[in-house]
Amino acid sequence: MATPARSDLAELERSALEAALDARGYKIFHARQIFRWLYRRGVTDVEAMTDLSRDLRAALARDFTITTPELAQRETSSDGTEKFLLRLADGRQIESVFIPDTPSMTFCISTQVGCAMACAFCLTGKMGLVRNLTAGEIVGQVRVLAGMLGMREKAFNIVLMGMGEPLHNYDETMKALRILTDEYGFAMPPRRITLSTVGLLPALERLAKEIVMPNLAISLHAPTDALRAALVPLNQRYGVADIIAACQRFPLRKRSRITFEYVLLAGVNDSPDDARRLAKLLTGVKSKVNLIPLNAAPCIPFERPADVAVDRFAKILADRGLIVSVRKSRGRDIRAACGQLIVEGQKRSAGQQLAVLM
Ligand code: SAH
Repeated sequence: MATPARSDLAELERSALEAALDARGYKIFHARQIFRWLYRRGVTDVEAMTDLSRDLRAALARDFTITTPELAQRETSSDGTEKFLLRLADGRQIESVFIPDTPSMTFCISTQVGCAMACAFCLTGKMGLVRNLTAGEIVGQVRVLAGMLGMREKAFNIVLMGMGEPLHNYDETMKALRILTDEYGFAMPPRRITLSTVGLLPALERLAKEIVMPNLAISLHAPTDALRAALVPLNQRYGVADIIAACQRFPLRKRSRITFEYVLLAGVNDSPDDARRLAKLLTGVKSKVNLIPLNAAPCIPFERPADVAVDRFAKILADRGLIVSVRKSRGRDIRAACGQLIVEGQKRSAGQQLAVLM
């Protein structure tokens, strides 16, 4: 008789782990101990969970594995940013980035291998979607980074701004957020987590009803449909006005705002008129704007605007009462900056996949 495949402890929310313990005749409070071992102490082997009985450890070892992404490469930028290339159980690779002192410590993690969104200026988009990450793989990046950086006991932020579109991998991303915020796991406060999306509206509407509510960042990049559709293909399906309306309906914590990310591309979307249109569009929205001067790459057909153009754009928004910041590009020398995450050798056609999605 074939042995049934073992399930993965790293894929279980605490409620599911409690159910699994209960089904085996063990007390459900052991789930708390196991969570502490996995997430707070970074243990990857049940034998090391020494406050569990031998009997329980043997049962866990028989029925479960613990899968952890493996470090394939680690690079450090001159500005302190670190990029981690991680290998998953099936050999696929993803990147996660540690950005120190922004002023907090931030982990930028991936939700997919590649991405189907095919935004015109993004390198990850050139890979197409290879596959979704599981919740365990999403959280696994945090386990690995926290361990390698000696930050298990320290506070950090998480931005879902690595490879992939988090709302295109909705269920696993939400499960990952529940594990990350579990009081016996990393106990991340949801306000320390930011989910960045290109604006998949049905998923955004679902997100609005979630119990664990991260901060929201919208990759807007253009104030009009004509311009945005040329940069973000998904705009052909979900336009600017609908996205803004969904943002206005979105439930926000007190004093919290939606971040609108806007990649500045020289001569494309960085004119004073664009800035004025953007300011008008965001009137009445609880927003802040994060300008991201393009991180250029050889196969990206756009250029980074000069600093004066960035300042002029920012000033027009600020003069109209908007909160504006310009994202400092961290880690450009190791290709760890926004939009530069790509893992060669596992590309798929993005165009085809987007066609399926739309
Ligand atoms: N898919 C999600 C999250 C990943 S990208 C999203 O689109 O929001 C995180 C941010 O980096 C997005 O705002 C994205 O548009 C931006 N970005 C992508 N490529 C970039 C580049 N080459 N230079 C600067 N920012 C880029």
